Amino acid sequence: MLRCDNCGKQYEREDQLTVGWPDIPGLAERLDVGGIVPAGECVDCGALVYEERAPIRLLVLLDGGLVRGVLAAQQGVEVVVLDQDLDGADETDMVVVEGEVDTLRGTLQAHEVTVAPTLIDSAYRAIEQVSAVLTS
Ligand SMILES: [Zn+2]
Repeated sequence: MLRCDNCGKQYEREDQLTVGWPDIPGLAERLDVGGIVPAGECVDCGALVYEERAPIRLLVLLDGGLVRGVLAAQQGVEVVVLDQDLDGADETDMVVVEGEVDTLRGTLQAHEVTVAPTLIDSAYRAIEQVSAVLTS
């Protein structure tokens, strides 16, 4: 599936686009180094159309306490929190998550992911500074 980066229109095939890779007008000015290669141009708005990617899925393991929020630097991140603190947990809310090595039990909480790249950058700068102090 292909999706317009501007208007969100979806396309099933590249031949449905106005123009496809690599014949996109002004391509060099519209791309960033390290960016994702577009499939073509949107028929409706002319913006770049990209292959849709599967979301990055995270499982956060929690042992009691409260996850107040989940922030990500970019779109396309989904998260589920598994609280493994079973004290006082309702049996009917309990789930079993089976992996290749571990079997985990707990209660699941779905969380919204807020896209906040500036906060993420700031947090990682702070973490890198602390790490640099601890390792020097
Ligand atoms: Zn569009």
